[in-house]
Amino acid sequence: APRKLAAGNWKMNGTLASLAEVDALLSAHPAPGCDLLLCPPAVLVHAMAQRAQGSALKVGGQDCHANASGAHTGDIAAAELADVGASHVILGHSERRADHGETDAQVAAKAIAAHQAGLVAIICVGETETQRDAGQTLDVIAAQLAGSVPDCATAANTVIAYEPVWAIGTGRTPTNDQIAEVHALMRDKLSARFADGADFTLLYGGSVKPGNAAEIFAIPHVEGALVGGASLKASDFGPIVAAL
Ligand code: 13P
Repeated sequence: APRKLAAGNWKMNGTLASLAEVDALLSAHPAPGCDLLLCPPAVLVHAMAQRAQGSALKVGGQDCHANASGAHTGDIAAAELADVGASHVILGHSERRADHGETDAQVAAKAIAAHQAGLVAIICVGETETQRDAGQTLDVIAAQLAGSVPDCATAANTVIAYEPVWAIGTGRTPTNDQIAEVHALMRDKLSARFADGADFTLLYGGSVKPGNAAEIFAIPHVEGALVGGASLKASDFGPIVAAL
């Protein structure tokens, strides 16, 4: 069965002082019933990983380069994240697809690099509001999965996050039926392509809050969440972790 994962994406938020939230989260939830992950800005990965040592909390990056090293000013290699204590990396988030023009092929190349460095890749997919209104959601998700998930993906090294672009940071969420439909499609596609496709952890992301987490976690094939805004404070993220 898929592992459950409560993952927080701090995006471009947080300072060294924010690591106090890690202490608060771990003291409130020392033994969560799921895998627990926070992905802070890259400059905080090392300090957060040190803070989390010996605890249930894992730490991840928010992007990596497809190459192992080299002349790529400003970029970060997967092995560099691993070196400072990261176990995961988010790839193909819609904000990176939009802000940096990342394509499915680039996301797949980054995932291969992540796997080679021993990181779990959290690969994000999601339709825009225009695509949903045009009835293209399932086709968009299927195409992103086919193009962004590399052949070397396994349930152990890859997590898929469904994040409808229009639900991110908006306070709007799909209906339970809409989430169920996409997650069932993802499960079908992964099972058709990978021997262990039934075991991939599938996350929902987009305006997950303490108030809607339990309902979302009850949807079939939702094995956790990728949480943005509500992962910044232990008082918000803690109840979401507890709901899973
Ligand atoms: P919010 O939870 O702030 O909507 O962000 C979701 C997200 O993009 C997580 O990666």
